[in-house]
Amino acid sequence: MNNDVGGDIGEKCAVFGIRSSEEVFDSIYYGLYALQHRGQESAGIATFSNDKINLHKDLGLVSHVFKNVHLDGKAGIGHVRYSTCGGLGVENSQPFVINYSEGSFAIAHNGNLTNTPEMRALLERKGSVFTTTSDTEIIAQLIVREHLRTGDFVEGIKSAMNYLKGSYSLAILKQDKVIAVRDPWGIRPLVYGKSEKGAAIASETCALDAVGMKLVRDVKPGEILVIGDTVESFTGRKEEPAHCMFEYVYFARPDSIINEVSVYEVRRNLGRTLAKESPAEADIVVAVPDSGITAAIGFSQGSKIPYGEGLMKNRYHGRTFIMPIQKDRENGVKVKLNPIRSEIAGKRIVLVDDSIVRGTTIRRIIKMLREYGAKEVHVRISCPPIRCPCFYGIDMQTYEEFIAQKKTVKDIGKEIGADSLAYTSLEGLIKAIGLPKEKLCLACLNGEYPIKEEQMKLSEL
Ligand code: SF4
Repeated sequence: MNNDVGGDIGEKCAVFGIRSSEEVFDSIYYGLYALQHRGQESAGIATFSNDKINLHKDLGLVSHVFKNVHLDGKAGIGHVRYSTCGGLGVENSQPFVINYSEGSFAIAHNGNLTNTPEMRALLERKGSVFTTTSDTEIIAQLIVREHLRTGDFVEGIKSAMNYLKGSYSLAILKQDKVIAVRDPWGIRPLVYGKSEKGAAIASETCALDAVGMKLVRDVKPGEILVIGDTVESFTGRKEEPAHCMFEYVYFARPDSIINEVSVYEVRRNLGRTLAKESPAEADIVVAVPDSGITAAIGFSQGSKIPYGEGLMKNRYHGRTFIMPIQKDRENGVKVKLNPIRSEIAGKRIVLVDDSIVRGTTIRRIIKMLREYGAKEVHVRISCPPIRCPCFYGIDMQTYEEFIAQKKTVKDIGKEIGADSLAYTSLEGLIKAIGLPKEKLCLACLNGEYPIKEEQMKLSEL
């Protein structure tokens, strides 16, 4: 990722939940720590003990927010958040705790509802009062309403799912039970694992690994999984799955397995495919770190051109991609990468990255490589051109952002200053992921959005 997305709404978050025979605070902490790449603006943990929910959340990284903090309990959930939606205030940090006549619950959400204004207006007409601008509160209010109407919490969730449009992987804490809910399209990932001591849910398998849980399976699209003394599965709502391709290309950690597919293998396959589809005469393959590394290794394997570390990343620098303020992003690029002159000077370089959004960062990188003596720079991008906004939780919201929306590949190549530019084909991407096309969301590439208006129940509650 050239780390240059400039959207103004959107969430890329992570959830974690665990129930154990032992105290769970440390496990939630380490689970969230493993998921920190999905959100760095705020972090929160809710646990259940002595018949009440304990909550701590704040703006900042996991290690900062939970310094000298401990919450008791053998069941709990956690959340890390990136969002500019509704501002960065702590009031929008999660988990949210909802108190109502039937008790209380905590909820954490990864994803993005696309019918937020309609649902909010509908609920307000029915008397709901909102204290945040977050779409997660809409989900919570709907669950409350439907719980009170049906008399059963899980039935309430099931019923609420009929009104929700968009992506949502949820972790809910209801007394000492942890409940996982995945939207019927399975857009964002959610996995379930267990150990001898208990069971956990997480946005990615890397968090299960971090707390010694063995992956059991993905939470199925439309499933409600209730982890108590036993684990019970309920079917909430059925739709055709549409897993986000961008999780594989960029967003998830390469050591995670999503929908039974290894993210690392997909990225390596993408590099190999790219080498086959768009070869280049070059001396060295260089990755834009970290996002381009695995695809660059694949390109090197596919092309037999040696891989070299031509760009060094400051490891203590956050991803500019998930910096919500433009000025931070601009400065971020400058302090983040530095070329290694001995690997670059006098060489023909294949520069591999996962995607180009606006093209500003890759242009700077190419300029930098030339300043360090690169003879030629051939850019290879492992994701096909991004042309359309994402409404399902990745921060790409307007058509204006995309360089590929208005320009041909040749023109983009010229604009970024590359000697040549090529992207993996859509067919190549689908093959590299290995899931059927019908099971993938490819909307930001081809404009075919998987959630159709007519699927939604927007009648009165
Ligand atoms: S539009 Fe793109 S980024 Fe958004 S969910 Fe679909 S594939 Fe993922």
